[in-house]
Amino acid sequence: MRIVQPSFEILAYTPEMTKVIERGIRTAYKSEDKIEEGSDIEIIGRIKNFKHESTLEHAAITVHFVTDRGVTHELVRHRIASFTQESTRYCNYGKGKFGNEITVIEPFFYIGYSGTYSLWKKSCEESEQTYLALLATGSKPQEARSILPNSLKTEIVVTANMREWRHIMTLRTSKEAHPQIRQIMCPLLQKFRQMWPILFDDVGNTEHTHPAMEIVNFDNDEWS
Ligand SMILES: Cc1cc2nc3c(=O)[nH]c(=O)nc-3n(C[C@H](O)[C@H](O)[C@H](O)COP(=O)(O)OP(=O)(O)OC[C@H]3O[C@@H](n4cnc5c(N)ncnc54)[C@H](O)[C@@H]3O)c2cc1C
Repeated sequence: MRIVQPSFEILAYTPEMTKVIERGIRTAYKSEDKIEEGSDIEIIGRIKNFKHESTLEHAAITVHFVTDRGVTHELVRHRIASFTQESTRYCNYGKGKFGNEITVIEPFFYIGYSGTYSLWKKSCEESEQTYLALLATGSKPQEARSILPNSLKTEIVVTANMREWRHIMTLRTSKEAHPQIRQIMCPLLQKFRQMWPILFDDVGNTEHTHPAMEIVNFDNDEWS
């Protein structure tokens, strides 16, 4: 059984997205003559104030996440986004391509607590043994997956427009959100803020609640 950390990678985004959004807004008011250096930031700031947020739907971002099945179950509740996820129906973790083993995401809140950590690890290992035993009986992956844990590593590509990303960030970086979705969304929000401050400065909460959240190394520093 392999134990890995969560991560994300920004795959694509609308080029010059604040300018694209500005064109949409200025089409409404026929004020294209006012487009100049910095006018996109100024007008987006204004439309956010009076909640003319449908204009933020003209730009989108696509992100690839590596996380666990518990977290993706929460992500896919966001109905305005589009998703493509690693399939436990079609992926057979008993095959050599997967190293004949399952991969799980390490729950950061158990790191350093030997009692709970070993209980979690033992349970995942038992799931793996049962999964492989079910495959050995001739079960299909879509049948044997029934016993796989929430900690199972999965990959998901998420595309959403800027209005929806703002909503997702508000909900999923909140202190009320699950710690593992915060673990991945807080650093993603920090990246979004670096890249498009006007679109993300006023949403979300990147304050960490658990020191272990700091240890995760998100390997996409080309964006910083
Ligand atoms: C802290 C937390 C705890 C949660 N706990 C639970 C739980 O215990 N059980 C559970 O089942 N879920 C739970 N959820 C999931 C939650 O109920 C939502 O399904 C999820 O957060 C998606 O949010 P949303 O519906 O606002 O947004 P999205 O689906 O992303 O939609 C964005 C916005 O579009 C609008 N919209 C979308 N669809 C419709 C529609 N059909 N009609 C009208 N407006 C629409 C709404 O304004 C919505 O806010 C929890 C979420 C959070 C953040």
